Amino acid sequence: MPLCKRTDRGWKITTDHGVSMDADWIISTAPAPQTAALMPDGVSFADDLARPKMQGCFTMMLGFDHIIPMDWDAGWGASDDAIGFVADNRQKPNRALKQTALTIHAGNAWSDQHFDHDLDEIQQQMKRRLFELTGIDASKASHMAVHRWRYANVNLPAGKACLLDQEKGLAAAGDWCLGGRVENAFLSASALAREIFDVI
Ligand SMILES: Cc1cc2nc3c(=O)[nH]c(=O)nc-3n(C[C@H](O)[C@H](O)[C@H](O)COP(=O)(O)OP(=O)(O)OC[C@H]3O[C@@H](n4cnc5c(N)ncnc54)[C@H](O)[C@@H]3O)c2cc1C
Repeated sequence: MPLCKRTDRGWKITTDHGVSMDADWIISTAPAPQTAALMPDGVSFADDLARPKMQGCFTMMLGFDHIIPMDWDAGWGASDDAIGFVADNRQKPNRALKQTALTIHAGNAWSDQHFDHDLDEIQQQMKRRLFELTGIDASKASHMAVHRWRYANVNLPAGKACLLDQEKGLAAAGDWCLGGRVENAFLSASALAREIFDVI
């Protein structure tokens, strides 16, 4: 992990490879729990960092050698279900897929409950539930992968666009400030950029 040392002029950062650089600010855009672990004791926004509640998500990707006839583009399940969301990638803009490809998210609450389970077991449960809900037989897929995301969504954001300790030159931004969508990651980072430009 890089070593960060406070100096009279800001921060001196030394990387694991021994490269040193000076910085006015250190900004973390890692998820809130990881940012909390990275920040030193006494940072002014420690309470704001402790507030966000983040949720996990398992994602299963299925690729088929053929087109599965479907009369829907996307479907929502429940947060406490093995299937929370299914998207037919052929229906996304600017795709010209000649075979069916599905992105399938487990519900966030279900993912948290099963977070430490074996990925093979998760895959079996998601496949079984997908079949129950949609009739799609995942065992016919020619490509299958499952990924575990620990901090995938935010069900309680920090409630501030960004966090900043002007005295210490430390700041944080991310979707967890405002809510778990990519737009919020952008809005949080732009708010932080504006605040930093205002104070320098
Ligand atoms: C499976 C999935 C599907 C999604 N689908 C959608 C969607 O359809 N629409 C939508 O709007 N949003 C979607 N999102 C949410 C969207 O991806 C996030 O809102 C967005 O990526 C948040 O951006 P961010 O920069 O705040 O955090 P992230 O993109 O999570 O970036 C955080 C970065 O911090 C790095 N990091 C973590 N810890 C450390 C550390 N200790 N040191 C250094 N670096 C560290 C991570 O490697 C990562 O690169 C989805 C998220 C997931 C997981």
